[in-house]
Amino acid sequence: MTIATTIREIRDAVRARHRSAADVCREALDRIAALNPQLNAFNTVIADRAIARAEALDRDRDRWRDAPLLGVPVALKDNLCTRGVRTTASSRMLDTFVPPYSATVVEKLDAAGAVIVGKTNLDEFAMGSSTENSAFGPTRNPWALDRIPGGTSGGSAAAVAADLTPLALGSDTGGSIRQPGALCGVVGLKPTYGRVSRYGLIAHASSLDQIGPLARTAHDAALALSIIAGPDPADATSAPEPVPDYTAALTGDVRNARIGIPRRLLEQGVDPEVSRAIDAALDVLRSRGATLVDVELPHAKYAIPVYYLVATAEASSNLARYDGVRYGYRAPTPKDQGLTTKDQGLRTMYGKTRAQGFGPEVKRRIMLGTYVLSAGYYDAYYLKAQQVRTLILRDYDEAFSDVDAVDAIAMPTSPTPAFPIGERVSDPLQMYLADVFTVSANLVGLPAISVPCGFTAGRLPIGLQLTGRRFDEATLLRLADAYERDTEWSKQLPPIASR
Ligand code: GLN
Repeated sequence: MTIATTIREIRDAVRARHRSAADVCREALDRIAALNPQLNAFNTVIADRAIARAEALDRDRDRWRDAPLLGVPVALKDNLCTRGVRTTASSRMLDTFVPPYSATVVEKLDAAGAVIVGKTNLDEFAMGSSTENSAFGPTRNPWALDRIPGGTSGGSAAAVAADLTPLALGSDTGGSIRQPGALCGVVGLKPTYGRVSRYGLIAHASSLDQIGPLARTAHDAALALSIIAGPDPADATSAPEPVPDYTAALTGDVRNARIGIPRRLLEQGVDPEVSRAIDAALDVLRSRGATLVDVELPHAKYAIPVYYLVATAEASSNLARYDGVRYGYRAPTPKDQGLTTKDQGLRTMYGKTRAQGFGPEVKRRIMLGTYVLSAGYYDAYYLKAQQVRTLILRDYDEAFSDVDAVDAIAMPTSPTPAFPIGERVSDPLQMYLADVFTVSANLVGLPAISVPCGFTAGRLPIGLQLTGRRFDEATLLRLADAYERDTEWSKQLPPIASR
């Protein structure tokens, strides 16, 4: 039996009463039970709650008839707050944290008729590029179990790639939706900064963070974005821009599109198999009528140092709240020695809590961020980074607004395919370099999508990244969808997931 695996197919089948939401949900839970022990994609599965919700949708089907995600199983990155469901950010610091409220995106998914099945693994507090920095162990790539799925939304990408759920939400601060999307062979979209409310997302770096979808097709990503986007009074940085129906933009017509290629930026350090796949993908778009032109992004080569100064500075501030007082982990007090917390000293309690609650990468970032913000170094590092960030922004503005302006800029999402688990854990700099093509979009706040564009000879997925104008996700989705019409990559499933 072939089983519907896209959002649209599932929703239409439930709507037409060919399947019940409860059936769809039970099947997703069965697949999770069968494959998650190998993948470690989920931190928490809420089976009973999901079934109860699906049965409620079935009972009340008339009221839900037009719901755009009716009966669609969804996985959420475990840094998105869910009322009553443990939300850990894959950190020991929050391993028993049960939020009293849900993120706005979660409320919107609920209102759209989705069925949330669980919370997916990530690098602790979304810091990393491989999902190895998780307090709950690494997630494995469904295409090669000895390799990383990318990160930090590695659990979400693996869940969609292994066909456990047709949709997962991730968050992207410097590539964390797009890069795991690329390395697992699924579509990942980082919306424009402000397009989607960040309320209820556990903050990593607040001027860079965005929530977005991971899905099998551009159409499904478009559908998901239409639901989660929009202004929110609870997030003052969410934008008042109207939200289009993104699926309506998927016309297949890219004849007027101009795609810029920053050739000079791509000269170094891109795996030859990745380069070949990107060139072939651009040929497909050209054969559909798009025009390819060269663009210069002269300051993009500074994106990695700029990102790792700005992101760590913001993270050191955001993570100051985890002190053992209000919520989350608290280091045990040595009552057995007759000491109370007061005797021991508040500072000692803070110190021990943070020493025990945070993992090594998070500590490294807090130290780096505190350093670059400290008196005497602020001007040399943090301020300088913000200035170069402005130069990078000007490069993009020029490319998108010059007389010969482009509509999208194409690059690989990741310079290499998925690397073996363990290869880079002891070499943070190598790990940071994986982000060379993804961090710019966050620094300048622009939307960017990764779309599967082939495989290496060893059957590892490769992703094409397209960056667009502010609030012009529609053009990116149209290009990605047009590309999918001429290729078969999005229909392929890894061997462990074949039915
Ligand atoms: N790899 C980048 C980092 O470690 C990006 C992470 C993310 O997007 N959350 O910061």
